[in-house]
Amino acid sequence: MFGTQLIDDYARQIADEKQASVLNGSAAGTEKRYQVLHQDYAQPDALRRLAGSIKDHTLHHLGDYLTQAEHSLTQRGVHVHFAETDEDARQTILTILQQHQVSRLTKSKSMAAEEIHLNPFLIDNGVECLESDLGEFIIQLDDDIPSHIVKPIIHKNRRGIANSFLREGVAEDYNDDPQTITRRARVFLRKKYMDAQACITGANFLCADSGRLVIVTNEGNSRFGMAPAPLHIALVGIEKLIPGEADLAVFLNLLGRSATGQQLTVYTEFINGPRSASQPDGPEQMHVVFLDNGRSSVLASNCREILRCIRCGACQNVCPIYRQASGHAYRSPYGGPIGAVLSPLLFGDRFPEFADLPKASTLCGACNEVCPVNIPIPDLLLRLRDKAKREAVPSPAAIPMAPFALLATSPNLWRSAMSMSKAMNHLPLDVAPIKPLQDWLGQRTLPPSKGGDFRKWMKTRRKPQH
Ligand code: SF4
Repeated sequence: MFGTQLIDDYARQIADEKQASVLNGSAAGTEKRYQVLHQDYAQPDALRRLAGSIKDHTLHHLGDYLTQAEHSLTQRGVHVHFAETDEDARQTILTILQQHQVSRLTKSKSMAAEEIHLNPFLIDNGVECLESDLGEFIIQLDDDIPSHIVKPIIHKNRRGIANSFLREGVAEDYNDDPQTITRRARVFLRKKYMDAQACITGANFLCADSGRLVIVTNEGNSRFGMAPAPLHIALVGIEKLIPGEADLAVFLNLLGRSATGQQLTVYTEFINGPRSASQPDGPEQMHVVFLDNGRSSVLASNCREILRCIRCGACQNVCPIYRQASGHAYRSPYGGPIGAVLSPLLFGDRFPEFADLPKASTLCGACNEVCPVNIPIPDLLLRLRDKAKREAVPSPAAIPMAPFALLATSPNLWRSAMSMSKAMNHLPLDVAPIKPLQDWLGQRTLPPSKGGDFRKWMKTRRKPQH
């Protein structure tokens, strides 16, 4: 289900065109976020800290808020389910669909659904499951996986998309004009909406006090999906809860700005439950499936802050590793700094090789600076590196730190090494003592060593006159 190639290898082999798309897409997102946040708020940092503390409070009382949300949802006529594992969630959803004899549905974008590989499962079980978000629709056409939380096709360009439309019969001729691509997708999808027997969505927030589900999209695709479908199933990670509707003022203002540099995402939908007798359209039945899938363990760990995440993608946009390597390099639906923390925590028991992801960081701190819920991502990465070391998880990408530690903690050895280090500039990489470093050095350009000059300078420098 997940890829196996190490980040270093993936980054080295990534096509130039793909890398340019990721670099340009993420740089544009970062610039817009900065402008809109700083033009609208004198102290955006204070707002980030407030959002982080609301999320922390919710996580601290998550059991209580889940009970409250279950009660509020039930009062609204919503059926509530709890899924402990990905398998439970898939089976729960399939059972509901089978009870309603659903063979065709539309689905709006949901990272939780990506996480549990819902689409292939439903398709294998005879349910036509069509992605309605434009980016996800293109991903589905190409049998690809998303490479960004908010912009799933950040790694693609319009020429590739036009070719996919032609190949898959969405268009009869090649046209890479972005407006034409969008119009063609719209025409194709609208017929499918009208024909669907159910709609699956995720949720950006779920208010425990009211049981109201909040979904934001820029294309309105989830409301298109919900309006004609008689059945709505929302798959909701348990960390999506917020205490009350008043908190939405904080989160909605931060989410749009952090994700796409918009003051507000174009469509913000408040879902009150199944349609009432007075409403002309909307689902007659609604289900919420709360997904745990490892979140309770994360909550009990020393990395619980990661559950504050509101999936804005801002940390991906600023990360120098993500920008070079793309989301696919992280081998899970969650790429970039959020993925480097979340993937080993959520999937590490089944995929211990994810323990190498926390090393894919320069620890520059940019991810923490932009995070709208103030997650200390660099600290969490260090805690996970420490955990991997203590658990002795083998990592082929590991730098041999033991010899360095020996050098760095012994002044005499360090001094001798420095005085000899200029010789390194002339050594071929395949000589015996350097051979273990060959792979590592082969991917990095180190500046020429000037070893020993600082000590010489210290000895000969003129003492300050008093
Ligand atoms: S960790 Fe923070 S910046 Fe990254 S996706 Fe989550 S909320 Fe956004």
